[in-house]
Amino acid sequence: MLSLLFITSLGWAEQNQCTVFDRFVEDFITDSGGMFDQAYFDQHVQITFRKNIAQEIIHPNAIAVCYPLTFPLKIQIDPEWWYRMGDYDHWSVLYHEIAHCGCGEDHPIEASQEWFFDFLHHLNVQASHAPWLPDGCPKTLMYPIVVGQECIYRHEDEYVKELFRNCQKVLVPDQIYRYRP
Ligand SMILES: [Zn+2]
Repeated sequence: MLSLLFITSLGWAEQNQCTVFDRFVEDFITDSGGMFDQAYFDQHVQITFRKNIAQEIIHPNAIAVCYPLTFPLKIQIDPEWWYRMGDYDHWSVLYHEIAHCGCGEDHPIEASQEWFFDFLHHLNVQASHAPWLPDGCPKTLMYPIVVGQECIYRHEDEYVKELFRNCQKVLVPDQIYRYRP
C-alpha cells in the first residue's frame, strides 16, 4: 500500500513538473484576458517535444504541429529547432500552435490560397491579398512560416490583439457536455 502511494505520488510529481513551454503558456493565458485559464491547459492541452516532425508528418520544414481533433489537444514541437532558436521564436510558435488548437484558427487564406486570388484577378475583381504589412512583416502570427524576432519586436501588440480577436475557444469534452444552447 505504501509503495503504491509512493508510485502514485511520484507520477503526480512528474506530471506537474515545469516544462520549457510553461512561461509562454502563462503569457498566453494573461494575454487572453480571461478567455483561457491554467486549468484548461492542465487538463486539455498536451505540449511535448517530438523529434523529426518534418519526416513524421511528411511536411517539409515543419517544426511544430497541433492535432486539434484529439483530446487532449496535442501540440508537438521539434526539440532540435527549439534549442537552436531564442525566446521570440519560442513565443511565436507556441502562440501559433495554441491558436490552431485552442482557438480553431487557421493560416490566413492569402498565404495558402493563391489560386483563388489568381481566379479573382482573371475576373478583373480587385482583391488585396498580401499577407504582409507594409514593412514586410506578416500580418498575423498565423502566417505559416514562423514569425521572427524582428517582426515580433515591432508588432507584438497587433499580433496578440489580432490572434484573440479571431479566437473561438475550442470546447473540450466536459464543456461540450455542459454546453446547453
Ligand atoms: Zn500553422
